[in-house]
Formats: sequence, C-alpha cells, structure tokens
Amino acid sequence: MAKDMKLGVVGAAGRMGRMLVRQIAEAQGCVLAGATERAGSEALGGDAGALAGIGDAGVTIIDNAAEMIAGVDGVIDFTAPAASAEHAELAAQADAVFVVGTTGLEESHAQVLERAARHVAIVQAPNMSVGVTLLSALVEQVAALLDPAWDIEIVEMHHRHKVDAPSGTALALGKAAAAGRAVGLGDVARMAREGQTGARPAGEIGFATLRGGDVVGDHTVIFAAEGERIELTHKASSRRIFAAGAVRAALWAGGQRPGLYTMRNVLGFDD
Ligand code: NAD
Repeated sequence: MAKDMKLGVVGAAGRMGRMLVRQIAEAQGCVLAGATERAGSEALGGDAGALAGIGDAGVTIIDNAAEMIAGVDGVIDFTAPAASAEHAELAAQADAVFVVGTTGLEESHAQVLERAARHVAIVQAPNMSVGVTLLSALVEQVAALLDPAWDIEIVEMHHRHKVDAPSGTALALGKAAAAGRAVGLGDVARMAREGQTGARPAGEIGFATLRGGDVVGDHTVIFAAEGERIELTHKASSRRIFAAGAVRAALWAGGQRPGLYTMRNVLGFDD
C-alpha cells in the first residue's frame, strides 16, 4: 500500500486553513504533518486539529515555515499574496508540491511562483471548487460550439458582505466564454446596464450582480437564442468545496513533474 502523502497547512488558523485541516483528516491518501501561522498569531503552540474542531491531531501550529515545509511532501496555502510567494520558494527548496488558493497575487508574486514551478509541481486556482472548474470548461466548450447569434449573459449572487462585483469567478467564466469564441473578454464585456441602453449588440457578454443574505456563491451562464435557451448553473453552499478541491489538487500534484498547473489540469482537461 502506498504511503500517505504528508501535507502541511500554512495559515492553519484562517477560515480556509481550519477547513483544510478538517478536509485532510477526512480524505484518503494523505495525513496532516505540519501547520503554521504568522508570527504573533494567538494560535501558535496550539494543536491544528483542536483549533479546527476535530480534536487533537498531534500537530502543533508553529511560525517557522521553513522547518514545517522541510518535513512534508506537499503544502496547501490559502493565506495572503506575499506570504504565498515566500511559501512557494520554501516548497521549491524542500522539494514539496505546492497548492495555492490565495487570491490577489501581484505580478511579482506570480513570477516567484513561475520560478518555483521549475523545481516542483504547483497548482494555482482562484477557485479550487471542482464544480466551478468543470462549469468553466463546459462554458468554454459550449461557447465554441454555438454560433455568435447566441447571446451570453452571466448572473452571480453572493452574500451581503461581498465588497467587489462582478465576482472573480463570474469574470473567469466570462473569460472562458470569450476564449470559446476566440475573442478577448475586455473587448466584448458589458459589466452592467441601466437606463437607455439601446438594443443588445451581437457578441456582447453581459454580467448581472445580485447581493443578499448569506449566499456563498451562485453563478449561472445563460446562452440565449431565438426560441431557446441553455443555462449552466453552479451553486456553492459551503466553503468546504474549496478545501476539497485543494486537497485533491495536492494528491494529484504528488505524481506530477515540476510545472505550474491549474484545477483544469487536476481534473484532466487539456486546458
Ligand atoms: P483568513 O484571513 O481567514 O485566513 C488567512 C490566514 O493566513 C490567517 O489566519 C493569517 O494569519 C494567515 N497568514 C497570513 N500570513 C501568514 C504567514 N506568513 N504565515 C502563516 N500564516 C499566515 O482568509 P481566508 O478566508 O481563509 O482566505 C485566505 C485566502 O484564500 C484569500 O486570498 C482568499 O481570497 C482565498 N480563497 C481562495 C479560494 C479558492 O478557491 N482559490 C477560496 C476561498 C478563499
């Protein structure tokens, strides 16, 4: 029987970090072998499992990322952009695969990831959910198959606390639809409509944003033509799906050559 993959969680006290600790405990083929938090965090010295609400895991949360990463086969990182870039370098030095879900990375951070990916397999995705990855691949295929007389509209709904619109995932779905049509999203996107908008131009990709309650994230891509309509929808009801996707990505990356991969690669799409 193959040995379990030893996984480390950086930022183990975060919302996603705690979710990841729970997910690793439940998943087959991996075991939690390390956990970190930023220097000064109240969680330091505590047990990662206890903090995640699943009882002692025998893994103490430390602030020395180099030490933790040197003892694992893979690292999962949902922290902050600068921290993720540092962790990627440490993972490359330690020959550990690296899965990064942190969003808002700047160009300089992206370059660090690219360099680190020459040494180890890295999976990066702004949305690690298996369902959203599949939706985006489907949207690209459907957009490529339908002629441009089909109008494309994207509707998303999130909880009342969300501060940006449209969501990063809605934009990624728009990019996938545009890629299917071999156009750039920037050239065809209509982010909102109000007042005397005039008739809808052909080829436009429209966005509509709804906000309210505690909705984790709903996305629908509508393809509308004369006489018929196709709607592809994904509804997230728990942030757990991002943790599940990340653990799946780590297990997959364990068997890959060095390189920078996406969730589409993890699911077996060519990209
Ligand atoms: P959070 O603030 O709850 O957690 C982040 C944790 O990282 C905190 O506990 C913080 O102390 C810790 N941290 C920061 N710097 C660190 C360092 N140098 N070393 C160790 N720990 C450090 O945030 P969250 O909601 O868990 O989200 C984290 C990131 O993941 C955000 O960028 C968010 O957008 C992203 N996210 C991505 C996906 C996805 O599917 N890709 C899904 C959800 C969230």
